[in-house]
Amino acid sequence: MSNQNPVFIPGPTNIPDRLRLAMQVQTQDHRAPDFVETFAPVLEDTKKVFATTSGKIVTFPASGTGGWEASVSNTLSPGDTVLVARYGMFSHRWIDLCQRHGLDVHIIDCPWGSGAPADKFAEVLADDRDHRIKAVLVTHNETATGVRSDIGAVRKSMDASSHPAMLFVDCVSSLASMPFEFDKWGVDIAVSGSQKGFMLATGMAILCVSPKALDAMEQARLPRTFFDFRDMMAANASGGFPYTPPLQLIYGMRESLKMLFEEGLDNVYARHFRLAEGVRKATAAWGLNLVAQSPDLYSDTVSAIYVPEGFDSNTLTDHAFNTYGVSFGIGLGEMNGKAFRIGHLGSLTDVMVLSGLATIEMSMADLDYPVELGSGVAAAQEYFRTSCANPMQSA
Ligand code: PLP
Repeated sequence: MSNQNPVFIPGPTNIPDRLRLAMQVQTQDHRAPDFVETFAPVLEDTKKVFATTSGKIVTFPASGTGGWEASVSNTLSPGDTVLVARYGMFSHRWIDLCQRHGLDVHIIDCPWGSGAPADKFAEVLADDRDHRIKAVLVTHNETATGVRSDIGAVRKSMDASSHPAMLFVDCVSSLASMPFEFDKWGVDIAVSGSQKGFMLATGMAILCVSPKALDAMEQARLPRTFFDFRDMMAANASGGFPYTPPLQLIYGMRESLKMLFEEGLDNVYARHFRLAEGVRKATAAWGLNLVAQSPDLYSDTVSAIYVPEGFDSNTLTDHAFNTYGVSFGIGLGEMNGKAFRIGHLGSLTDVMVLSGLATIEMSMADLDYPVELGSGVAAAQEYFRTSCANPMQSA
């Protein structure tokens, strides 16, 4: 039998049958007049997920990394300064991308497990009197450490010094799973992708761009061709793409938005909080620690969990896969060997999460972890049983 188990990696996420079927469409002519009727409402509806009326949605064939590249290359020029804090693998990779584009990257190094340091941003921005910093780049949900940062606080720190820098936010592993407020937080570009909260196959970068970022685009001198927003927006205006679009993903996107709105975005966020809490209760019952340093930083889409001293988290994740056919996230970068990750985003229910907890618990028992078999599952069961459960959770 092929592997029927859900994955517990923090993306790509499990694809519900409804979305797999929605993506199973025969080739159609993307230049035919009816493509406009499919694509234009997708762009409009996606705004609701970003909580924006002022932003413009741009979506194109790529993954999140392509989204980062497009955000930078469309708005900045060689030698421009950007301010970024590094507190995990994904903030690190965005920094690397900026450096390779010839940007002057002002890096604030923070311990992994902490979040975006709004106070330190405020200090650096206040000192930048001649406004050399053109953009502040923040990873909303650091998937490597299971840390969610407070983007509203970053916005306040920028406003405190009346600094005109743009605010770019990576919401690859938070959008459509945790609240995101593009307009309220004054975000200029938010970068996401199809394979996490939208529960689709990988292949589309999904961005929201503010009028201010669109103005910056007119002066930006970094080279871009495939990623040029101007070509995309010109083609989108007449309902098309500047190149062959991933039609099946666009059909999937249309259905994904329907699913999210049927459940209700607030319910989607509440379900993710609930699943995450179940995992956190289990972690506490095992006597293990989260990488996230404090509860205000806890991510509702992924938990990174330290293994006890003397154990190797890669052995644990390999064992879970080889013995039980279940994938968990490995420790990335500084966390490699030290922590494993449980992804709890997208198409998941309480019952599915319990199966993941039971599997990792069996794996820990097999490898002689000092963890009582059943303790984590019981803690999560107790939480799920007693906290306003919705038995019809559809996920
Ligand atoms: N940013 C974050 C927070 C991520 O979790 C990921 C991927 O997991 C990326 C960026 C990179 O996205 P992609 O792998 O789709 O290029």
